[in-house]
Amino acid sequence: FYYPRKWEDYSVVTKISDVRPGDRVVIQATIKSISVRRSPGGRMLLTQGILADDSGEISAIWYHQPFLKKTLAINSQWIFAGKVNRKQGTLSVQGKSLLESPIYIKEPRILPVYPETSGLTSRQLRRLIEPLTKNIAGQIDDWLPENISKNRRLMDLPAAIVKIHFPDSQTELKGAKRRISFDELLLINLNVQMAKQNLQQFPAPAILIDRHFLADFAASLPFRLTNDQRRAAWIIIQDLNKSAPMNRLLEGDVGSGKTVVAVLAAAGVIKQGFQVAYLAPTEILAQQQYQNISRLLKPLKTTMALLTSSTTQTTQIQNAKCKSQNDNVKLKIKKLIGDNKIQLIIGTHAILQEDVEIPKLALIIVDEQHRFGVKQRANLRQRQAADHNRLIPHFLSMTATPIPRTLALALYGDLDISLIKEMPIGRRPVETRVVNPRQREMAYQFIRKQVAVDRQIFVICPLIEEPTRLNLFDIDRKSVKKEYEKLSGEVFPDLKIGLLHGQLPAKEKEKVMADFKANKINILVSTAVVEVGIDVPNAAVMMIEGADRFGLAQLHQFRGRVGRSQHQSYCFLFPETISGLSSRRLKIFSQCHNGFRLAEEDLRLRGPGEFSGLVQHGLPDLKMASLNDTILLKETREVSREILADGMKKYPKIKNKLNEFAKERFLE
Ligand code: ADP
Ligand code: MG
Repeated sequence: FYYPRKWEDYSVVTKISDVRPGDRVVIQATIKSISVRRSPGGRMLLTQGILADDSGEISAIWYHQPFLKKTLAINSQWIFAGKVNRKQGTLSVQGKSLLESPIYIKEPRILPVYPETSGLTSRQLRRLIEPLTKNIAGQIDDWLPENISKNRRLMDLPAAIVKIHFPDSQTELKGAKRRISFDELLLINLNVQMAKQNLQQFPAPAILIDRHFLADFAASLPFRLTNDQRRAAWIIIQDLNKSAPMNRLLEGDVGSGKTVVAVLAAAGVIKQGFQVAYLAPTEILAQQQYQNISRLLKPLKTTMALLTSSTTQTTQIQNAKCKSQNDNVKLKIKKLIGDNKIQLIIGTHAILQEDVEIPKLALIIVDEQHRFGVKQRANLRQRQAADHNRLIPHFLSMTATPIPRTLALALYGDLDISLIKEMPIGRRPVETRVVNPRQREMAYQFIRKQVAVDRQIFVICPLIEEPTRLNLFDIDRKSVKKEYEKLSGEVFPDLKIGLLHGQLPAKEKEKVMADFKANKINILVSTAVVEVGIDVPNAAVMMIEGADRFGLAQLHQFRGRVGRSQHQSYCFLFPETISGLSSRRLKIFSQCHNGFRLAEEDLRLRGPGEFSGLVQHGLPDLKMASLNDTILLKETREVSREILADGMKKYPKIKNKLNEFAKERFLE
């Protein structure tokens, strides 16, 4: 089950007469002559051979491998593969083309290349694995019933395992990949669909939302809802009125205004006497949403509390009484929640981990849900289904990471998706520019002017501290600490500069964020912790150091921190290195303001493995399957449904395999 990382195809042979300089070629040739000599400077041993087929001759050279003279005996026949050198120079023999360090194998074939660990090469792994594939049939049990494999034209499992290592043709390789990917995706689908089935057994409270009340509340907001916001809220209200638990994902680009949609739903649910939990992935975000949401809910006098692992202050309770300043505030809050005296609980996953009893919990809202880990999500599910006698809450999750629909279905089961496509009116696209090092001074002057008209600035750096072991490539990597010193000491000694990163104590983070929000800080130097959801409408410049280190989707998240008001905003990208690919990516980014399109671009340029966001979506470690394979995703989803409709009892082998898979891949 140690699958190859890629395959190199040495099965298609070229005639020597067709070989051109610069080509990568595979030839089948005999050794006409072979000799070892010293390089012109005398420092290296060169093994030089003349290789021939019936169309011509080519010379080959290997460095430091004198033993090859024995292996590649005269008149023996081999497959050689390598690159044809453009410069023939002194190494080539009599003006012949030159193959430099070609690999040599016995037969034309497709060879596996393995993920290598130090001290173990692909060549060695091949030699270890190949004998094992000879008598695999009796040892590997195919857990898929024949009717499914036949129906779906799948290779049987033992064959697929052999062919994934040593395929005889590209067609076989494709078949083997398809079978192994199919298994992975089927298991994922079964896993989520079964969880979904389990949940569906328990009813949720059907809540009839008071529409007049909600319309009045909407009218009290400081802005007019966009049509997409209205539509999303409307659909959620209808979901809540069903006794099947809602499981809806609200997708919308950064700044599209998802929070207020969730708040509308929460207000409606609370009005009917229930409790709502709102979860954010980080303390900073929970803190901020607590403030935002309490402002929005002000006219309703909703009782609410902020509950994170560092909750200590009474200011974190609103509209409910908590007298003592000294006692354990957290315990107090928990007690209030338990007595149904707090209607809205905002917090991090601490809410779930600690034993907080929320007796009338009817709606769980998960903000930036992709940032929650696999375990945390599993926790949520368990919480939902924990008490069999009680109704389970409805579930609303939100994300700004665009996930293709087929993928979302595979990951989360049959959830419903609402999209917010339009931005609130009056937003101007953030002017985005790639800045070259010589223009840095100008950028600083620009920042100074912005601060003069009372705007605020973000500066993002990839690192917290300088790397301890600097190497050649690290020299220019920016750290928040150093950048903070530089900006506060040299560049803007007269301005107020703040520092924010994940290692600060929670209290300090809160203070810095609060100060920035209150405009007591002009420039905030931060790591990627500001990436998610931070909302400071007065911030107008986002300056990103080491911009080429971030994925486009992540850069888009950063950029979404500005342009949240009427003021024209700016995003400056400072790349660390300029390579062709990275400058192309940054250029695309500076011209495109659509998160969905940028995510696709990321996928195209960097491949799914790198597609930022997806890794965090709690996807189990995939060995073979590709997330791009929408057809296979769809097919496995169908098969999984058929199996579950039939009843798992009929498929004991699948059941076993599923248990194994869940243990191995989902539990980190
Ligand atoms: P996100 O979808 O990224 O979570 P937020 O909910 O944080 O976005 O909203 C971004 C900003 O837009 C907030 O300052 C919010 O008050 C504001 N906002 C939301 N809806 C509207 C609207 N319809 N009109 C104007 N501003 C809005
Ligand atoms: Mg948000």
